[in-house]
Amino acid sequence: MQSRSRTRPFWLSAGSRSEVDAAVVGGGMTGVAIAYFLALLGYTVRVFEERGSFALGASGRNGGHLSPGPLEISGADHERAREVLRFEHQTVRQIQEFVDQEGIRCDLRFGGHVRLAGSEEEFEALKGSAQLLQEEGYPVELWGAEEVERKLKSYPGVFAGGLFNPAGAQWNPAAFTYALAERAEEAGAVFHFRTRVLRVEQAQSGFHVMTSAGVFPAKRVVYANNAWAGRLGVERITPVRGQALVTEPAPSMWDFGASTVPGAAAYWLQLPNGKIVLGGLRSLSPSKEVGEFNEEQLHPAVSAGLRSFLRHHFPALQDLQIEAEWTGIMGFSPDGNPLVGELQPGVWILGGYSGHGMPVILSAAEALAALIAGKEPQIPIPQAYRPDRF
Ligand SMILES: Cc1cc2nc3c(=O)[nH]c(=O)nc-3n(C[C@H](O)[C@H](O)[C@H](O)COP(=O)(O)OP(=O)(O)OC[C@H]3O[C@@H](n4cnc5c(N)ncnc54)[C@H](O)[C@@H]3O)c2cc1C
Repeated sequence: MQSRSRTRPFWLSAGSRSEVDAAVVGGGMTGVAIAYFLALLGYTVRVFEERGSFALGASGRNGGHLSPGPLEISGADHERAREVLRFEHQTVRQIQEFVDQEGIRCDLRFGGHVRLAGSEEEFEALKGSAQLLQEEGYPVELWGAEEVERKLKSYPGVFAGGLFNPAGAQWNPAAFTYALAERAEEAGAVFHFRTRVLRVEQAQSGFHVMTSAGVFPAKRVVYANNAWAGRLGVERITPVRGQALVTEPAPSMWDFGASTVPGAAAYWLQLPNGKIVLGGLRSLSPSKEVGEFNEEQLHPAVSAGLRSFLRHHFPALQDLQIEAEWTGIMGFSPDGNPLVGELQPGVWILGGYSGHGMPVILSAAEALAALIAGKEPQIPIPQAYRPDRF
């Protein structure tokens, strides 16, 4: 069963443990959030996390941007894009309310976010997005090349323009996950650390969750292990390694929160203590870091690119010392939208955020918990997130 040992203790069979209403795989922000909302609905929940604590995967390794999008809207399906826009803005508002109500300390601040264009072509695409956002009532601003240069304090000519969204926020995602985990535990969710889910088997009624710590029966299962979902047979989620770094405190640079260049090629923000968090540039790796699971290894070309990025774009940011550098594994879907819903009777998924989970997870988890409980979600899940869309 769970080990290579050829002996198999009879007492550790599936019947030894009480069945829960829901087993959740993964203790990142997603697993914690779905556990919290299911527990609030009165469900018994066990969360299995293979590492020693919460948020040790992407949720504790990301860039700290909580930026509702999408901001590059192309193609004809504007209705779906509108739904996603509303959903993500709603998630950010929900996070703000939750943080205020619960007094959560996660450095949440609404500095806004600017999406930058590296070329005229990219700027044209941003203009299309701006129009859609303005039609929807979002007070976004288009910044021309000179305005960007002035506001970013960048070298002349490096950016062709930008789209500023004041709804963009920045935060400490690990701190939020820890706080949510405390509330999930208070609501009754049980967390099993250092417990890896090896596979999930259909049982007579419900499922047997086969783990490194034995068998746990559950009425239903939620895959909240994002990049690693493929290892349990979930198709359509591909692991992609991201990389980021933090500098020593720099001179105060920007009076807005965060910046991104298209395709998340690079993204950065300045923390209140002056340090700059910068991530991206995985295109500098020949594989684009697709299929990479190793969090212990930095890609040398991505590291070199990140280390020289600030120097090449901003005259005031020369020769900053790097205080820390890390990687994390993201789960990408084929179209960049997450998978939120039922995969087969009793098996649910919440993942595949394609590097953009922060403005999705909380509302998606609440809505999914309602669906699991047979209720109408207060905020409907966008059609674009349906797992059966492929
Ligand atoms: C470098 C980087 C920068 C990013 N920047 C941003 C950003 O600025 N803004 C943004 O919105 N998003 C960003 N993201 C993406 C964001 O971090 C993710 O979308 C989000 O954290 C996903 O949360 P999660 O809980 O689904 O996954 P994770 O936090 O990865 O959690 C999954 C957990 O499942 C566990 N697990 C896996 N398999 C098993 C198993 N079989 N049994 C038990 N446990 C298992 C893992 O150990 C892990 O803890 C970034 C990601 C990276 C890596």
